[in-house]
Amino acid sequence: MDMEKPLPRAAATPMIDPHGRAVTYLRVSVTDRCDFRCVYCMSEHMNFLPKKDLLTLEELDRVCSAFVRKGVRKLRLTGGEPLVRRDVMTLIRSLGRHLETGALDELTLTTNGSQLARYADDLFAAGVRRVNVSVDTLDETLFQQITRWGRLPQVLDGIAAAKRAGLKVKINTVALKGVNEAEIPSLIEWAHGEGHDLTLIETMPMGDIDGDRTDQYLPLSQVRRSLAERWTLDELDERTGGPARYVKVQETGGKLGLITPLTHNFCESCNRVRLTCTGTLYMCLGQDDAADLRPPVRASESDDLLDAAIDEAIGRKPKGHDFIIDREHNRPAVSRHMSLTGG
Ligand code: SAM
Ligand code: SF4
Repeated sequence: MDMEKPLPRAAATPMIDPHGRAVTYLRVSVTDRCDFRCVYCMSEHMNFLPKKDLLTLEELDRVCSAFVRKGVRKLRLTGGEPLVRRDVMTLIRSLGRHLETGALDELTLTTNGSQLARYADDLFAAGVRRVNVSVDTLDETLFQQITRWGRLPQVLDGIAAAKRAGLKVKINTVALKGVNEAEIPSLIEWAHGEGHDLTLIETMPMGDIDGDRTDQYLPLSQVRRSLAERWTLDELDERTGGPARYVKVQETGGKLGLITPLTHNFCESCNRVRLTCTGTLYMCLGQDDAADLRPPVRASESDDLLDAAIDEAIGRKPKGHDFIIDREHNRPAVSRHMSLTGG
């Protein structure tokens, strides 16, 4: 055996929840702030968390690293908009060390793309290889209406920069009834033509927004039926432990994902938990039960308390979610905003 080469680190034993599922995926919202105000995600005048409540970048690193030590193989940074957190590259570069040791398979992020032109090369250098970028329309005026504060050309420049930097881009599109519904086939053609996969997301009832959610809700089963009249959709086996199902569109050659948390039960294969920027760990996107990891992080410099708090939290990961759009009261099923847990 060549003794010069470092041996690959033995994979940590994964955390197993009470329902027998291994928790191998952590999504981290690094900020609740954002430079957009998408209509389905935020109200125009949001109250953001006081800065003192946020975990510092060092604390976020400690918590993420504890999860990696406990067998998490994939980290996704999200938000709010992860790239508007000050000095976020310090965190990303630091987490990149787990890719080098082989403890982590993937470090990735979900972004609105507004800052990608600035960060694409740095992200690649830190070990990031894929990014999800949210684009709901290619119509500049509609883009501004949906995002309120966003500018489409800036996002398209960001996507182009990501591609040049060598990052694989996946487009996320929230399907909105009567808003971008008619544009969905052309969005798919555009994305696939550019070499990007595209995933459609059904709106989820999270947090108070200014409008009526039942107006926005477009079942993807309906979208899929209409796409199937136009194209041949070949079911792919791929499962990611989340609510996405994938098909290949024969005519475009690209991959299409469908995230249907409201119409399908995906919980039996759930492999993920979510951490907010204040250190709250949500064991399920669709439930309010959570564990506060900030006190154990701040109580001591050793990670013993933190490790114990994580184990306790995973020990009560629920079996499934309770999403419903409450038509009678028009209240969200989960009171926190998506920008807190990052979707
Ligand atoms: N700011 C980044 C972005 O927009 O990609 C990351 C955070 S955002 C909360 C993550 C994803 O959640 C985006 O693709 C966004 O479109 C989606 N999203 C936000 N609110 C949603 C909702 N109520 N229902 C479904 N998807 C939502
Ligand atoms: Fe910001 Fe993303 Fe929410 Fe839009 S979806 S407001 S970009 S966090």
